[in-house]
Amino acid sequence: MELYGLTIHELQDRLRAGETTSAEITASVFGRIDAVEKEVRSYITLMRETAMIEAQAADVKIRKGDIGILTGIPIALKDLLCTKGVLTTCGSRILQNFIPPYDATVVEKLREAGAVFTGKTNMDEFAMGSSTETSFFGVTRNPWDLERIPGGSSGGSAAAVAADECIASIGSDTGGSIRQPAALCGVVGMKPTYGRVSRFGLIAFASSLDQIGPFTKDVEDCAIMMNVLAGYDPKESTSVPEDVPDYRQFLNKGIGGWTVGIPKEYFIDGIDPEVEAAVRRAIRVVEEAGAKCIEISLPHTEYCLAVYYIVAPAEACSNLARYDGVKYGFRSEEGRDLMEMYKKTRAAGFGAEVKRRIMIGTYALSSGYYDAYYKKASQVRALIKRDFDEAFTRCDVILTPTTPTPAFKVGERTDDPMQMYLSDIFTISTNLAGVPGISVPCGFTTAGLPVGVQFLAGHFQEGRLIQFASAYEKQAHIEQRRPKL
Ligand code: GLN
Repeated sequence: MELYGLTIHELQDRLRAGETTSAEITASVFGRIDAVEKEVRSYITLMRETAMIEAQAADVKIRKGDIGILTGIPIALKDLLCTKGVLTTCGSRILQNFIPPYDATVVEKLREAGAVFTGKTNMDEFAMGSSTETSFFGVTRNPWDLERIPGGSSGGSAAAVAADECIASIGSDTGGSIRQPAALCGVVGMKPTYGRVSRFGLIAFASSLDQIGPFTKDVEDCAIMMNVLAGYDPKESTSVPEDVPDYRQFLNKGIGGWTVGIPKEYFIDGIDPEVEAAVRRAIRVVEEAGAKCIEISLPHTEYCLAVYYIVAPAEACSNLARYDGVKYGFRSEEGRDLMEMYKKTRAAGFGAEVKRRIMIGTYALSSGYYDAYYKKASQVRALIKRDFDEAFTRCDVILTPTTPTPAFKVGERTDDPMQMYLSDIFTISTNLAGVPGISVPCGFTTAGLPVGVQFLAGHFQEGRLIQFASAYEKQAHIEQRRPKL
């Protein structure tokens, strides 16, 4: 196995034993990028030169015995995390030339842990989408089938891990943007509890829903990444001062006697039969591992999509008001006065999906409609959260499919927003309730496309999710295939 194909923990073992260097690992990853990036197109910006410098600095540290959690490990960042001095576009023309003057807190934390940054990954514009097709910088392809989408909005981060163009990566998840692409690319992806990871320096989409989390090749690497990412940040008012456990302590512990809730509302018409079969196999696997599965109900599930598509656009339209061409980003040169400059900048700077969300959000918040839409949606959201609180009095974790179908073809859903929105039918409720979720590979379709299973737990129970996912991964023996690129 080439170095680029290994996990964080395997590479750390080799680095500690002096069997390889970060410079070798980083060169191996960039060699892989050179070989496959033309086809996959995971990245908007590559950081090759600084990565090589960071790798050499890591090697000096390692020789001194000063090894941090991620020292010398190549990590990719979704292009909505501010990186000091490095282009940060959010997949949008309106930020096509934006170079932030500061690092996001998670970038700082990764840097302190010793990570080597490979680059900034492609994404749906402003994280609005499920396929990475709305990016101003072109479409990312699914490494398992280049005619298909990698999922979204963090499609570049998921594809980069699946194609071995980095060892792990960071994404963000507002309605499924980590878990859905993780499932479609056959990697592990976690959305932590709302408040668990600081969003300082994350370009906001919908502030009451956005969370940052990792993409990794296995559950152990997810625990390692969460050890770096989680924690209170005085710069971020919604981050919670809750203790962060060592997530590695939850690995390899077993789940004998656990109760697993299977929500009946998540096995619906329209779910692909091969996806359903793979998830039903996952249910048997956790039973073999000693867990007891019970049917539960999350009765307000049918309203999740409607609530999300009021709350998220409403918050987005206010977050996106700041892009007016004045202080940073793209500016249209055509305006004759200030008002016209604003209008032309926004008309040319935002793509169709972003404009659609701004219009929906503006409508939902407008006077006379606020009570009927935003307020109503917030009330139903409280009921959705209550469904989860009640469910977790009966079970330790919930198990569902991550997505209703495997990866679809590029272009297949671009003209049908409703079909696109349905891609997130099983992931959106988690964000509305604020609870954590993880998607783990659970098999392949006959066409060789990966399928993911989703596990959910109560607020701040990421450790429980890692314990469950680790036990599942061990018991399931999912075939260790790699995409043929
Ligand atoms: N696909 C969903 C949307 O378009 C979720 C995106 C996300 O989680 N960022 O809003």
